[in-house]
Amino acid sequence: MSFATGLRCRECGATYPDDARYSCDECFGPLEVTYDLAAARGTITRASIESGPRSIWRYHDLLPDAGDAPIDLGAGWTPLRRADRLAARLGVRELWLKDDTRNPTGSFKDRVVATALSSARRLGFTTAACASTGNLATSVAAHAAAIGWPSVTIIPHDLERSKVAMSSIFGGTVLAVEGNYDDVNRLCVELVDEHPEWAFVNVNLRPYYAEGSKTLAFEIVEQLGWRLPAQVVVPVASGSQFTKVAKGFDQLLALDLVTGAAPRMFAAQAAGCSPIATAFARGDEFVTPQRPSTIARSLAIGNPADGPYVLDELRRGGGDAGSVSDAAILDGIAELAETEGIFAETAGGVTVATLHQLVERGTLDPEASIVAIISGHGLKTLDAIADRAGVSATVPPSLAAAEAALANDRLVVAR
Ligand SMILES: *Cc1c(COP(=O)(O)O)cnc(C)c1O
Ligand SMILES: [Zn+2]
Repeated sequence: MSFATGLRCRECGATYPDDARYSCDECFGPLEVTYDLAAARGTITRASIESGPRSIWRYHDLLPDAGDAPIDLGAGWTPLRRADRLAARLGVRELWLKDDTRNPTGSFKDRVVATALSSARRLGFTTAACASTGNLATSVAAHAAAIGWPSVTIIPHDLERSKVAMSSIFGGTVLAVEGNYDDVNRLCVELVDEHPEWAFVNVNLRPYYAEGSKTLAFEIVEQLGWRLPAQVVVPVASGSQFTKVAKGFDQLLALDLVTGAAPRMFAAQAAGCSPIATAFARGDEFVTPQRPSTIARSLAIGNPADGPYVLDELRRGGGDAGSVSDAAILDGIAELAETEGIFAETAGGVTVATLHQLVERGTLDPEASIVAIISGHGLKTLDAIADRAGVSATVPPSLAAAEAALANDRLVVAR
């Protein structure tokens, strides 16, 4: 049973019933889902959660009402891995990686799409839609296919080939827009008014969509043996994931399912699209939009909807925000693969490179525990690593030629 009670404006606090709306009638502020945590305390226990399915739905009590049948392609319950070899490179004592490459369509977006479309079905929508930087389109198309819904996913025209392929294979409509994500998003806001029966998961279903990211926090705590990490590093595009991971920790504390201090939250951005890191460094209260130019396409949102809320959370908890160059992102992808055997997309490279930056800056405490979120699979951004990845040597099929090549001591090295 969901303990969700309705919606509340994040700006003025006006409350609304649990229905299909996303902005405040009073002030046009964004809405978020509220819960009756007092009623949930005592009813939701560690044991009740542990007896649930190995997916985000083990936390259904703390998610929006999913109706009779939550949509489940298997999103969530991804591995939390101790990363001692990467930790040694960084010079930190306790590092864990939340490996969200292991979701059904290869990115953390499966968590938010499963949540949003379950609510959309309950609320009577009939078509799945989204504005996407790539991963969301793939996840929406897949989940729509699995429930027999049509889908309309809208993306910038110049995305990675593998993301376009992965989005289109599910048979939905994929519309490419000659513009960047911020143009796509603006267009989708207009389309919502024309097609009220379409569930744009991150526009008119955004309050329900956003809640899915809390499951990252829930899983991290449960997988650490019901312990809070001291520090969490999150890659940031719109900022939705970041703010809801923080909300997830707060809810577990409010329910007495864990004790201690809420983790300090750290944001990771690409230097080529760093509106939030820039505003934080300047001490600004608002985010100045940027025109993105980075290989981290999944994070290329120049006008982030949750920007001010990310800034609030960074300041509330004493966190920090990093921004890293495209070269550092590629180094981060390679380092993660070579030290931990995890192949991440460019957003994962952003997270790893930001870990380095914040340790060097001294804002990440090397002695306290760190969890870093690796949010998407490397097969999604093969184009980005094309110049770095390839065979070590090409030889004719003869023992002599193979041995001659392998005798080159640069070819076979210990890492
Ligand atoms: C969408 C996305 C993010 C960040 O999402 P926001 O909630 O918009 O900040 C991070 N990593 C990957 C791989 C993504 O696709
Ligand atoms: Zn309001």
